Amino acid sequence: MAKRACIFPSWVESLDAGIAEEGRIQGRCAKCGEVRRVDLAALRDVKGGAYSLKNRRTRCKLTAGCDGWVRFHYMHGVMRPLWDDATADRWLSQEACHDARMER
Ligand SMILES: [Zn+2]
Repeated sequence: MAKRACIFPSWVESLDAGIAEEGRIQGRCAKCGEVRRVDLAALRDVKGGAYSLKNRRTRCKLTAGCDGWVRFHYMHGVMRPLWDDATADRWLSQEACHDARMER
């Protein structure tokens, strides 16, 4: 079976491009389910214009006490995942290792 092609719009490659194209990105926590739109201009102030949210995730800060992972989605007709299959596999294996350690 063919792997799903992962073609992202060019504006997700940097915050500068995302802001110029008025791109929309939102973060969603897999654990608590909170969703928040990312303020790309505010993030650029912190990370710089070359930074990209592609294939990144961050610990949840949307809900106090939540230790879930926030993953990012971009608007392209509908909200689409901003990560590729290889990254999804890497995250899954990291979480599996983490869970195994927790059990001991
Ligand atoms: Zn959360």
